[in-house]
Amino acid sequence: MIYLDYSATTPCAPQVMAAMIPYFQDRFGNPSSSHAYGREARAAVEKAREQFAEFIGCSPHEIIFTSGATESNNLIFLSLLLDTNEKRRKIAVSEIEHKSVLLPAKNLAKRGFELILLPVTANGVVDIDAARDLITEDTALVSVHTANNEIGTIQPINELAEIAHRVGAKFHTDAAQALGKMPFNLQNLDSDLASFSSHKIYGPKGIGALYIRGGNSNWPWEYPLFGGGQESGIRPGTHNVPAIVGFGEASHIISHNRDHFLSRLLSYTQSFEDMLTTKSSNYIIHCQNSSRIFGISSIYLDCPKADLILESIADIAVSKSSACNSSSLQKSHVIQAISSDPTMSDRTIRVSFGFDSDESSVSKLVNTLVNAIQVISK
Ligand code: PMP
Repeated sequence: MIYLDYSATTPCAPQVMAAMIPYFQDRFGNPSSSHAYGREARAAVEKAREQFAEFIGCSPHEIIFTSGATESNNLIFLSLLLDTNEKRRKIAVSEIEHKSVLLPAKNLAKRGFELILLPVTANGVVDIDAARDLITEDTALVSVHTANNEIGTIQPINELAEIAHRVGAKFHTDAAQALGKMPFNLQNLDSDLASFSSHKIYGPKGIGALYIRGGNSNWPWEYPLFGGGQESGIRPGTHNVPAIVGFGEASHIISHNRDHFLSRLLSYTQSFEDMLTTKSSNYIIHCQNSSRIFGISSIYLDCPKADLILESIADIAVSKSSACNSSSLQKSHVIQAISSDPTMSDRTIRVSFGFDSDESSVSKLVNTLVNAIQVISK
């Protein structure tokens, strides 16, 4: 079996596993305890916070650990919803956000907020001119992901942050897919809030982070959860120490091997797309000429339904649009946003490469896909 679905999730790196194991066993303390076991666990959590902060270019006190990007995204929308002092009633998100942004935004729209869906062009990027008209003085929050999880397009987040700030709105970016697949540093980004996930960067699942520029004193709205006050009271609950340690280690590995890592992802994507071009004409790579993160190719296959292709290439793990959509019968909202052809979504698959990929898996994928298209099209 060949795994080419690294945008859905990545395996834990061996160093990540090794770093985590002691915190399940001998170093099992609760970081909130004041005795030696607690202090040891607390030190591990703070080390991981430093590792992650170094990786994304911020200060450790600006990081809150959460259970993943879904929770980070939800915390933002929930706290805005709960804040009775917030007089602004509009929120703006791109129409191709991950569901963990789209659905919380739609929830607010049912409860007194006006939801503006920022349109994207056929190139899969937010239409800046439209955004300029739609983001107005009564907008409380603009949330646009750094890069899309299905088609990999990099969004104009600096321009969008500037538009948001010009009218006094907060700007949030979901950077779950961007991390590890493009140069990313908060020093170069004027964002108030950002969400991250560990399992997309060779760390464990169920852990992630929320960046708050300036730290918890800058949290703009109500605190949405209540409990023991951990993570500055914004995300209370006993720390998942092994997962936090693994997330920190994964961040450390990628930040110290960044160029090597990015160049490998780029070379797999390029050889895949070049090889496909020479062997077949029955496909389109979505947004091929847009600026895209490394490692993702979203391909429209010019043949009957893509799920038939997925069945016929069962020994290669790729995905239909995204992992979060693949079990639902709904069409991909991302593909629908970039194409007026209603069949596009059914005939699109997403291939995503990772550090463990190699050239032979790339050529096996191309040959298998080309054969499958021929057989199914007969
Ligand atoms: N946002 C984006 C852009 C994603 O790709 C994902 C994962 N598919 C998420 C959020 C959710 O992340 P997590 O699995 O950490 O909750």
